[in-house]
Amino acid sequence: MKKQTLFLLLTVLLSTILFGWTNVEDKWIVEKQNGYSLYYTTLDKQDIVEYKAYFVAGKKTVEDFFQNSFKNDFSIYIHPSRSSLDSAWQKDWNMPDFKSQCWMVASGVSNKLDIISPKKWDSLACEHSYSDSIKTLRLITHELVHVYHGQQNKSPDFSDVTGIDWFVEGLAVYASGQCDSVRISEVKKAISENRIPETLDKFWTGNLKYGLSGTVVLYLDKKFGREQIISLLNFNNIEELLNTLNTTEFEIMNGWRDTSVQNVEIKKG
Ligand SMILES: [Zn+2]
Repeated sequence: MKKQTLFLLLTVLLSTILFGWTNVEDKWIVEKQNGYSLYYTTLDKQDIVEYKAYFVAGKKTVEDFFQNSFKNDFSIYIHPSRSSLDSAWQKDWNMPDFKSQCWMVASGVSNKLDIISPKKWDSLACEHSYSDSIKTLRLITHELVHVYHGQQNKSPDFSDVTGIDWFVEGLAVYASGQCDSVRISEVKKAISENRIPETLDKFWTGNLKYGLSGTVVLYLDKKFGREQIISLLNFNNIEELLNTLNTTEFEIMNGWRDTSVQNVEIKKG
């Protein structure tokens, strides 16, 4: 065998081995869509058409809710494994040791949405099942609300916000339709049993966090109107939010409690 031929063979062999070792998660396929770029790996290729229908529907719900289109294009990453999602979060949040909890499947900030491949939720996550298509769509829509909100907010990744977790999350819960009749009745029950946190700051905590935060934003939407809600998207602290609405936390809590025990119209239940 000629020296050159041997060298060529060795090179081919070596690159095959190296290529084989490269993590499949590093090989993102990118597809440009209307308003966003979709990143996925070959492992999810066969489900992409199905997933795209969720993203299109979720995006439309968000744009209808805010009566406007997304300000900027963004990216959607479909992670083929939990370790792939974790490594994205470790990098984005600068927390090299971060390990996600089993219920965490997605996140949204101004420039991107990260999500574990929805068909793998049943095996890679707890509390989520892909077959529940309504809940799946609402979860994706929830994250898209965060993307929209982040594009309007002073803190695009919500890392610099004070006292508005209930608003950021409540808005995503409410606008996505996650504030459904079940959650509303859980909140009514908790109010009647005096199991309500004392401050709004604590509304996005505990088992009732979706219902508590979602119904407060539902209440604000009914009381102040959609335009006012939209005018709050820029703020990253509660003082600015209360000043704009010309109200106090005390007034919001009382008004919310009074209307929650009455029959609240379910906007997107
Ligand atoms: Zn959220």
